[in-house]
Amino acid sequence: MTYTPTHCVNCGVENTNFTIYKNGTQLSRITLPFTGANPTYLLLKKQRFLCKKCNNSFTAKTPIVEQNCYISKHVKAQVMIKSAEAQSLKSISKDCSVSPTTVQRVINEGEKQFKPYHAKLPKHLSFDEFKYAKGAMAFEYINVLNGDILDILDRRDSFAIKNHFMVNYCLTDRQNVETVTIDMNAGYVNIIKELFPNAKIIIDWFHLVQLINRSMNKCRVHVMNQLRTSNNEDMKKYRRLKRYS
Ligand SMILES: [Zn+2]
Repeated sequence: MTYTPTHCVNCGVENTNFTIYKNGTQLSRITLPFTGANPTYLLLKKQRFLCKKCNNSFTAKTPIVEQNCYISKHVKAQVMIKSAEAQSLKSISKDCSVSPTTVQRVINEGEKQFKPYHAKLPKHLSFDEFKYAKGAMAFEYINVLNGDILDILDRRDSFAIKNHFMVNYCLTDRQNVETVTIDMNAGYVNIIKELFPNAKIIIDWFHLVQLINRSMNKCRVHVMNQLRTSNNEDMKKYRRLKRYS
């Protein structure tokens, strides 16, 4: 790959009268997206230039990769697209023929450019928590009607959540929220009243059903164990209850 540079990238001098001349090449291996099932690489011989004025050299640039990088922009775009799906670093790394470390780096770089758009809050919000890196808990809030994730915080304590909503949404906006659906065990019930003064709190069905289920089961085991005697009638009942375990 070669061309005639218009000026020197080091000192900026214009390339007239052979101020900049071609001076050897540099070979680099660039990772491209898979071709069908085959990992694909581009062996690119890049032109080296030497500037007579400043005596410094530089390498020809290509739009395929960023400077000092051997992974093509297409592969990086592919990693970003795959990272939006629920896939592990390892599986993305396999699909894009780059190391898991590179996958993580590309995601971290992409994350810097991603600014969540804090538009108006929807009328119906849902709060949720999930585990990430080594068991730390993150917090997310969702538009109930369309399932859109509105933002994710890397902490879930009341202080962080309160601060986030105070900074990003005005009171009028928060007053328009009609319902907030939460996990029954959520520790931030108190701040919901403060943040969304007109909102009703709804306990998530899933967690309610889960609690009823567990309580019923506990009760069953308790009664069952009392029937575990030498009495035949008792044992009959015991076995009947045992069936549900
Ligand atoms: Zn120069």
